[in-house]
Amino acid sequence: MSERKELEKIFQKHSFTDFKWIHPEKIAVSQWVRMKCMFGCREYGVKACCPPNVPSVSECERFFLDYTKAAVFRFEKKVDNPEDRYEWTKRVNSKLLNLERDVFLAGYPKAFLLFMDTCYLCKDCSGTRTQCFNKKSARPAPEALAVDVFSTVRQVGYPIEVLWDYSQKMNRYAFLMIK
Ligand code: SF4
Repeated sequence: MSERKELEKIFQKHSFTDFKWIHPEKIAVSQWVRMKCMFGCREYGVKACCPPNVPSVSECERFFLDYTKAAVFRFEKKVDNPEDRYEWTKRVNSKLLNLERDVFLAGYPKAFLLFMDTCYLCKDCSGTRTQCFNKKSARPAPEALAVDVFSTVRQVGYPIEVLWDYSQKMNRYAFLMIK
């Protein structure tokens, strides 16, 4: 069985069926994404998996170059209340962590997950990596690693739009770096 097929079997076992393969070279890492984190995001310095608690943009670029295989997972959702999003995020990211572990155990030691959305594993975040309440499970979101999610997922044909109201449907994306 090809590597891809073997991995897709693991994805399916975890009920993740909406995904596409992307070559890590195609993952767009841009300085403007970091600027948006630093100026305009209320989570800057508040979340332990967000800037400034993450590597520099050039270190992020180097990180993606360590890989030759990655999968993008799509999650579509509409929430009734803005706060409902956090519970959904926590649930999906927890399931994705199980997938990352299974991929790792299948013989892919570099497996590394980028969460769909910021880490909401805890009700209140420690705000720093060293004080993180769940160091083993916390992972950064792609945008925290300066990934331009918009242009990256559009390259593989996935939809993504700027939203202005919670009544609109979200398209969220997680990345699993594998090899
Ligand atoms: S595991 Fe908890 S403390 Fe650590 S980054 Fe996630 S929410 Fe913050």
